[in-house]
Amino acid sequence: MESGAGRLVVWRDRCRGCRSCQLACSFRKTGEYNPSGSAIVLERDLATEKTAPMIRALSCDLCGGRPACVEACTYGALTFELLPRIEVRY
Ligand code: SF4
Ligand code: SF4
Repeated sequence: MESGAGRLVVWRDRCRGCRSCQLACSFRKTGEYNPSGSAIVLERDLATEKTAPMIRALSCDLCGGRPACVEACTYGALTFELLPRIEVRY
C-alpha cells in the first residue's frame, strides 16, 4: 500500500509467524497488545503451513511514516520505502 510519504512492502516468504508486527500495530493504535485492534491479519496457508501478514488497507495509516510493524519485525518481512515526491518520466 502507498501514501504520499512511502510504501509498506510485505515480503511474504520471510515471515515466521511470530505476530510481533500484529501486537506492535495494535499497541500503536489502541495502547493495548490485542490482535483484534491491529491493522494486520496473519494468514496461514494450510497446504504449506506458512504464515504471512495481510495489511487491512483501510485501517493502516502507515503510522505517519514510521511503521511500528516494520520496527517490530526482526525477520525483514515488512519494510518501508520512502517514495520520491517528484518523479520525471520519459
Ligand atoms: S511479518 Fe515479521 S513480525 Fe510479522 S509475523 Fe511475520 S515474522 Fe513476525
Ligand atoms: S504501518 Fe502502522 S498502522 Fe499500518 S500495519 Fe504497520 S503498524 Fe499498523
